[in-house]
Amino acid sequence: MTDELYFWQRTSIGLLKGIGAATALKLNRLGLHTLQDALFHLPNRYQDRTRLHPIGSTQPFQEVLIQGTVELSDIVLRKRRSLIVQVSDGTGMIQLRFFHFSAAQKNSLKPGTLIRCFGEIRHTSLGKEMVHPEYTTLKTADAPIEQALTPIFPATDGVGQALLRKISLQVVGLIDSHPVPELIPKELRAKHHWPELGDALKFVHQPPPNVNVYSLENRTHAFQQRLAAEELLAHHLSLLKLRAAIQKTGSWPMPPSAQFQAQLLAQLPFTPTGAQSRVMREIEQDLRLDKPMLRLVQGDVGSGKTLVAAMAALQAIEAGFQVALMAPTEILAEQHYENFQEWLQPLGLKVAWLSGKLKGKKRLEQLAPIQSGEAQMVVGTHALFQEEVSFQNLALAIIDEQHRFGVHQRLALKQKGADGIRTPHQLIMTATPIPRTLAMSAYADLDTSIIDELPPGRKPVKTAVIDNARRSDVMARVANACSEGKQVYWVCTLIEESEALQCQAAEDAAKELTLALPEVKVGLVHGRMKAAEKAQVMLEFKTHKLQVLVATTVIEVGVNVPNASVMIIENPERLGLAQLHQLRGRVGRGSAESFCILLYQNPLSQQGKARLNIMRETNDGFLIAEEDLALRGPGEVLGTRQTGEIDFRIADLIRDEHLLEDCKQMAASIAHSHPDFIHPLIERWMGNKTEYGQV
Ligand code: ADP
Ligand code: MG
Repeated sequence: MTDELYFWQRTSIGLLKGIGAATALKLNRLGLHTLQDALFHLPNRYQDRTRLHPIGSTQPFQEVLIQGTVELSDIVLRKRRSLIVQVSDGTGMIQLRFFHFSAAQKNSLKPGTLIRCFGEIRHTSLGKEMVHPEYTTLKTADAPIEQALTPIFPATDGVGQALLRKISLQVVGLIDSHPVPELIPKELRAKHHWPELGDALKFVHQPPPNVNVYSLENRTHAFQQRLAAEELLAHHLSLLKLRAAIQKTGSWPMPPSAQFQAQLLAQLPFTPTGAQSRVMREIEQDLRLDKPMLRLVQGDVGSGKTLVAAMAALQAIEAGFQVALMAPTEILAEQHYENFQEWLQPLGLKVAWLSGKLKGKKRLEQLAPIQSGEAQMVVGTHALFQEEVSFQNLALAIIDEQHRFGVHQRLALKQKGADGIRTPHQLIMTATPIPRTLAMSAYADLDTSIIDELPPGRKPVKTAVIDNARRSDVMARVANACSEGKQVYWVCTLIEESEALQCQAAEDAAKELTLALPEVKVGLVHGRMKAAEKAQVMLEFKTHKLQVLVATTVIEVGVNVPNASVMIIENPERLGLAQLHQLRGRVGRGSAESFCILLYQNPLSQQGKARLNIMRETNDGFLIAEEDLALRGPGEVLGTRQTGEIDFRIADLIRDEHLLEDCKQMAASIAHSHPDFIHPLIERWMGNKTEYGQV
């Protein structure tokens, strides 16, 4: 480690001026321990307090600095007690509103006082308003004004902007005497024309006065792009490191199946598609090696990922090992359980089942064969990886991900391996295709296979977007379809995450349809029904005893009724596009032309309409995922927003997509010729926020 690197990476933030032990602790909680942490704690936006705006020309939602004279100051009691202060500057009038205020504060804002405020402009029925602006009272109108944009840092309780700015000023001030070490080899920086790291950091902490605040927030400036690229690079390296660490542990090699796979294929009414066969071969090769497979299988809805998973499972089982399949929801896991029983029981294999809902004796009944090895295959939710579950010899874990599991849960697998040293092979299946660029950076630790072909006979589904005001037209269309011998799904979506309300909505819709369409037989399934009841209704629908199936999003998974060719989705605006695409994949499986109606509730935002229109325009899951990504951001699409897994300081996977390919190449080059830079780079950008490095 060079002296400068040591200085930045090892000097405690507590050594800065004005930081006591208590403050240092609070900063630690924000992930700030060292001078380097402080220097790389980057502003996420800026405020422009360098110019005074005439009140008359301010616009709503603008954050501006204004200055004027208090005309009136009064406490009003309407709705909530508040202090109202009217300020004018000759161009216009604005009202300041304070809900919390002291008597001293009211006294200091007497008419005639000169005041300068910073805040967001709102328009109300009473005119322009600022709520709780930051303000100072002035002695003279020409009091000095800020010379540079004000950086706003990610903050937390007890660590406010004032403190963070004080720290920022100090660490930036140290750059000249202690150059920030470059961790990217010189030849690579030169090749890509990267500016100096120290200059880039100074720029983002203290943008020069002539820069426009909006252009800064687009983060397209060369200094910002250089930092974003380095961050993406560090992220990429951390994933590669994770992969290397897992693979170093080794795994159990498995010869190709000589018997079970052929037996399964022989009992199926179809043969695998070319794409399925190709991916099966890729997996077969991985499993033959003595290092853990880390493979992601992507495939559109209905592309037949389950069969690919089953074939992998059989190779492992035939080699004498156990296999676990984990699904993100109870219902999806249940579907897999039934499916695997149907496929594996005829081969004389035992499938066990585990979920969080399974309690007491029933749970023990499942745990025992898992521990003894009597059950070769185990299907379940994440309950599979709880501590009291022990496997006899787990060597392959299959995860049906749907973007709901993170890297951390995948790592939990490691402990479940047979000998505590080697790691089980991992096969991850995603039901939603991930745009290639995103996959490249979010899953850099995985090899990727794509099932890019649907089984024969699938047809694109015609989709219409219709206002719920025309509900009766839609019901008439349902009646019509039924009279032609078609079957219909009527799907009720989640109301604010409440399963109970969703079930209620489905019950109401079923009643409504039964009343309105007396000649049509309507059935109902939802998540709160008993498994046996659900199975009975599904069977009646499969055998065409029912014409309309009203369902909650339960049917997102695994249902296969080729004669069902119409789907109505209520309140589609509540779902992600990927989920809508999943649902829609339930129709279009038979020979008849299929329809999907998205019955939205007005009012719907422009963006909401734009999203639904994407569904009308394409049946291509990849395209839908790309568009969804552009509209909603990667956190939503990958389902990692809550876990904060892809929580960049300055990079943005969409905006900086053009950097990804370069970063990937640079990462490979650094791993090859400067491996000593890898660790400090990861530490610099990912700090201790990540478990990636600590495998
Ligand atoms: P997904 O990729 O969405 O998980 P599934 O594995 O659930 O898709 O498969 C969807 C349906 O297609 C299932 O009913 C499955 O049995 C069927 N299927 C799978 N592969 C083929 C194939 N090669 N030919 C015909 N049908 C297939
Ligand atoms: Mg599936």
